[in-house]
Amino acid sequence: MALDTIEVSRLKQLLLDERQEVMEALETFGLSRSTHGGYDPNFADISQVTAEKGEADALIQPLKETLVEIDEALNRIADGTYGLCLKCGKEIPLERLEAVPKTKYCTPCANLHR
Ligand SMILES: [Zn+2]
Repeated sequence: MALDTIEVSRLKQLLLDERQEVMEALETFGLSRSTHGGYDPNFADISQVTAEKGEADALIQPLKETLVEIDEALNRIADGTYGLCLKCGKEIPLERLEAVPKTKYCTPCANLHR
């Protein structure tokens, strides 16, 4: 893959920063009360916690989806497939990854997907 380790670690940091922001946003909805401010490493499975909160769910859903996308991107970094389009398998341009580190599609595929 075309990304070198420095680029990957930089993008990973962007993802971790974004993840932190999403977690904090979710926390403002009171979703992590049980952790008393600490971040639960298994917090990704928040669907159960929110299942009964119909109203808040509409606000929380986009955040949860973002969190899933970030975690998927981090998983792809871990298994070495990060930076490749999930649809066509081509490399995603670095500029696009820097703009949207969690993206899983190259620009043409993302446009099709939408
Ligand atoms: Zn593609």
